Amino acid sequence: MQPLIAGNWKMNGLGAQLSVIEAVAARVVAEAPAVDVLLCVPATLLWRAAASAAGRIVIGAEDCSADIAGPHTGDISAAMLKDAGAAVVIVGHSERRQHHGETDALVASKARAAWRGGLKSIICIGETASQRKDGAAQSVCAAQIEGSVPVDMPLTGNEVAYEPLWAIGTGDVPTSQQIEEMHQHIRRCLIARLGVRAASIRILYGGSVKPANAREILALDEVGGALVGGASLAAADFNGIIREATH
Ligand code: PEP
Repeated sequence: MQPLIAGNWKMNGLGAQLSVIEAVAARVVAEAPAVDVLLCVPATLLWRAAASAAGRIVIGAEDCSADIAGPHTGDISAAMLKDAGAAVVIVGHSERRQHHGETDALVASKARAAWRGGLKSIICIGETASQRKDGAAQSVCAAQIEGSVPVDMPLTGNEVAYEPLWAIGTGDVPTSQQIEEMHQHIRRCLIARLGVRAASIRILYGGSVKPANAREILALDEVGGALVGGASLAAADFNGIIREATH
């Protein structure tokens, strides 16, 4: 399975930062790495980001509405994101679950809305520090899969990301053993829920991935790629992770 290196710019990025996308796209063209590269950017940048990427890397969005259209002021539908240049959307990122009260059920509805609107989805799950301390990390992730991953998920191009909340933006990375155990657990949960066909879903790891730790993380069993926050904002770092993924 070819790994996916996906960036998440969160609420960062103005027109001036499009040069980062140009630099990543140029590197992808020059080296033709054996990885898939995706950058998820704020909705305001999608159209220009897609132009800067020029088809060399895939551009995605960071969230979508669970609704198709109508009286939802400020919300953005999957079809609108697609129309603006996105091919993929992240749903259920922990920052949305925490700061916007998004439930598993809403995340599942957003994933379905994404597919209906012609997008692929990355569904995020992950435990808090205290849940891990209490020995509940695996049960929390199992419950999130049960609640957030619709049983009818089309398999091609739809991924799941494991992002322990305590590793996001903290520089605090789980041990290789912790990552591997959780990814193997997530694979078992996905197969139990979706059947053996779920063996083809890429399970991305997210949480303080940097060029310095990417190679070790990406080599772990059942790690199908990385979801990268902070290090996707600088071309040198993101290109460094892409380079590590190809070794
Ligand atoms: C993220 O927000 O999805 C993430 C993984 O962030 P960071 O890489 O900065 O930890």
